[in-house]
Order: sequence, then structure tokens, then C-alpha cells
Amino acid sequence: MKPQIHRNALVLFSGGQDSTTCLAYALAQYERVETLAFDYRQRHIVELQARLNVLNAIRERFPQWASRLGDDHLLDLAVLGQVSETSLTRDMEFQMESSGLPNTFVPGRNLMFLTLAAALAYRRGLDVIVTGVCETDFSGYPDCRDDTMKAMQIALSLGMDRRLLIETPLMWIDKMQTWQLAHDLGERAQIGGGKALVQLIVEHSHTCYLGDREHRHEWGYGCGSCPACVLRSNGWNSWCR
Ligand code: ZN
Repeated sequence: MKPQIHRNALVLFSGGQDSTTCLAYALAQYERVETLAFDYRQRHIVELQARLNVLNAIRERFPQWASRLGDDHLLDLAVLGQVSETSLTRDMEFQMESSGLPNTFVPGRNLMFLTLAAALAYRRGLDVIVTGVCETDFSGYPDCRDDTMKAMQIALSLGMDRRLLIETPLMWIDKMQTWQLAHDLGERAQIGGGKALVQLIVEHSHTCYLGDREHRHEWGYGCGSCPACVLRSNGWNSWCR
């Protein structure tokens, strides 16, 4: 069998630090890159706005990537709100459950994301799905683990009778290394681009669970105290050291 050459990718792009880094990763190596997000009535519309701001900023500041950046897709997944009660979709405080998982965990959410991403990739003729899932993350979502990704890659490839690759560039790195990866990708794209890409992520990507765009820190906007902000700022501080 001839080795398959991958030329295009679909990036699961929520507008956060991780998925923006994944988008840069994909733009650095594929000829055509499309983006996908899901609207499951997130508590904060700022997340959906952030991703548009990131896309616009990439088009402006990275012309060599702009030509590769194709269609952006937004799929309605309001149904998720019907099957889950979590602090991501309801007005609930973030907390750890007795299962050891945070109450931001929506069972099967990432499996659904990947299935829909694969269906879209099939229709758009894209053969790689890039996602920012990560085992080193604090949350330990079981549907973000490496084994789950490998099982999904096989299930989706078989079920759609087309070889699909699920790429997870952040799987084994921590948040400090994610900042470094963004820096390196930007630098490889253009002279001075490392700083430009990091600044773009700081300014436009959004991670805070509380949707805070009022408080600006060195590492970006956020409340500074929710788990997502803590993770992001700790990573930033270690990286700056
Ligand atoms: Zn926060």
C-alpha cells in the first residue's frame, strides 16, 4: 500500500490557547486548513467571539498562513445541554465531583465532537483532524486520553471507510511547553513571528471559565482564579522564567 500523504486538515478550534496553538501547528504543515467549533450554548459567548478574533488576527499578521486558512465551520450542538448538567452550560460553580472529575466534564462530549468532525472532514475532503486534547492537563477527562483518540481514529476510519488521522500535538506536553510550541511555530513561520504568535494568543485567545474579558494579565484576559486561568497563568510564568 502506498503511504498516504496528508495535505489538508480540519482543526477543532474553540478559540482557546490550546486550540489556537493547534491551528498554528496545522497551518505550518498543511496546504489547506479548515476550522470547526461547536455551539452548545456555552455559558459565555465570548468564546465564540474569541475564535473569530483569532482567525482575523492570523489572517492579518501571518500572510503566509492566511492563504492556507480555509472555511470556518460552526455546528449547533444545543442537544448537549439536554443530556448534561455541567458548569460549562449551566450557571453552576466549578467543582470537583466524587468521581474525581470536575463538573465541567460532559460525558462523551469529545467523542461526539470527533464524530461530527469526521463527518465534516469526509464531506470537505480533509483527511487529518487536529485536536488540542492533552493527558497532562489537570482535568483528566477520559474522552481526551491518548487511547481514546487512537480508538476513535480506528472506529471513524472503519465506519466511514476512509483513512482518517487524528493528530494531537499537545497530548504529552504541559502548558509551559504549549507556550513554547506556539513561540517556535511563529518563529518558523517568519522572522520575529515567535513573539507575534505568542502575543496574538495572549491578546485574542480565551480560556477563562467565567468568560472574563475585563481583567488583563501578562498571559491574557481572565478572572485569574478559575482552574483554566490558573493553568494558563502557571504555564506562562514557568515559560517566562
Ligand atoms: Zn478564569
